Amino acid sequence: MRFGDYADPVVTLAEDVVNSYRHSVGVDDLSPALLTSLARARGWSGADASDADVSAVRSLREPLRTVFETHSVFAANALVASSGLVPELVRHDGVPWHLHLTRPGVSLPAWVAGHAAFGLLAVIEQGGVSRLHRCSGPDCFAVFVDLSRNQSRVFCSPAVCGNRVHVKAHRARKGVSPRSRGSA
Ligand SMILES: [Zn+2]
Ligand SMILES: [Zn+2]
Repeated sequence: MRFGDYADPVVTLAEDVVNSYRHSVGVDDLSPALLTSLARARGWSGADASDADVSAVRSLREPLRTVFETHSVFAANALVASSGLVPELVRHDGVPWHLHLTRPGVSLPAWVAGHAAFGLLAVIEQGGVSRLHRCSGPDCFAVFVDLSRNQSRVFCSPAVCGNRVHVKAHRARKGVSPRSRGSA
């Protein structure tokens, strides 16, 4: 799916911010280095992230998760509004006039909040709220944007959660019906 040159890079920003805390193992991966790279990959050109920026972005996880789990357009709109970012038509680096979301002196956390939520709004507008998911894996709290053509994704990672479900179902089958062993 395409969402436009400006939105394309940010449609997965919310997903990356929420999933930078891995519930399954209780590990928080968010660091100044990771936050800086997540933001730079989406066009952030300000200073590198500080520890304070990391703390502020951690607090965005719950409101962003809410959009994935409740499909609340209101919550996504509110996040963009709270960032204080406004549309501005700009041209730079030989690219003709195009829209940016910006605000003079915007902080990195506010920039991330606004762009992560804007990315979700672009998905909802173009693809519908049903593209926002929480993983169906057992005890997996990861969220994701389903960008597949037929909206068939149910797991954050087919290789991890998809496989765990497959193994669990396989064991259950073997347990209930030993004679079927070898047929799967
Ligand atoms: Zn630009
Ligand atoms: Zn998962």
